[in-house]
Amino acid sequence: MATLHKEYNTFYDKIKLTDNRKDDLLGSRKSLREKIEKWFKENKSDRLQPKFKGQGSFEMDTTVNPIVETKDGETFRKYDLDDGVYFYEKEGEDNRENIDTWHNWVYEAVKDHTGEDTIRKNTCVRVVFADGHHIDLPIYYKDGDTPELAHRSVLVGWKESDPVEFTTWFQKNSTKQKKRLVRYIKSWKDFRQDKNSNLKLPSGFALTILVINNYVKNDNDDVAFRETIRNIYNSLSAYNGFKCLRPTIPEDENVFDDYSDTRKNDFLTALNSLLTDCDRAKDESNFKKASEYLRDNQFGDRFPKGDDTDEERQKKAMSSTLAGTYIQPKPYGY
Ligand SMILES: [Mg+2]
Repeated sequence: MATLHKEYNTFYDKIKLTDNRKDDLLGSRKSLREKIEKWFKENKSDRLQPKFKGQGSFEMDTTVNPIVETKDGETFRKYDLDDGVYFYEKEGEDNRENIDTWHNWVYEAVKDHTGEDTIRKNTCVRVVFADGHHIDLPIYYKDGDTPELAHRSVLVGWKESDPVEFTTWFQKNSTKQKKRLVRYIKSWKDFRQDKNSNLKLPSGFALTILVINNYVKNDNDDVAFRETIRNIYNSLSAYNGFKCLRPTIPEDENVFDDYSDTRKNDFLTALNSLLTDCDRAKDESNFKKASEYLRDNQFGDRFPKGDDTDEERQKKAMSSTLAGTYIQPKPYGY
């Protein structure tokens, strides 16, 4: 059996957002915030001024590098940032406008910012940038303890939602290894969807909850990832087990509630195929072959090829050079 901890670590370096790129994206978010602030200052009264709170993978430190896309010789990296725009009610003043009005205002504020499309979505206004990244701007109104999201679907309307509380929950429950597993599974999703445009796997948000709730700790990332995936698969495929409960407001809402049967089955099938290849890799003694199971069908070529050698042979070679000392691969740190 081949231990692929080292290969997973190399993969991690490829998919983890680097500090430089992170700074670029934060700069882009900052200039967009300034633009929105300026528009509201110029067009709305003092009591209608926005505040901002970042949310999503960026705040949780689980952002992955998207698969690079090329079109007409240009490269695009479709990073997805979420930046909440908040309006707070001051005592004795009811400033709540209707949902479309809030969306229209934010849309007006940002529509000429990039020269690219600005998209009206149900849950946010999306600003697209020339290099492919976009910033989603969900809008919240807060007149009590819990912010309410302005959801444009008439079936939903104002919806209690607290993404900052979710980030806090995640930080409390995560470790370095759990964050790495979240990045592995999100990169898996990106690769699978890139290969099959009909496939719609769960959001990064849902995958993050699943990893935290089904986590298996191990010194080696390949084992931790494989056994966590096994737990996720087993719990979702159990009778009445296909659910993913939101841990923060709206607490215990099932994130998978509106999934069609096709979408459920597609996810279970994809998970099963991932698990099968992880098990094949485990049973394979040659590093190169083991890595190819994961590279070809699950992670793509960002996952490195292992050496064309057997684990047993490598151990023997090492122990003879090191006069009998075989050094265990070091855990990456928790
Ligand atoms: Mg987004």
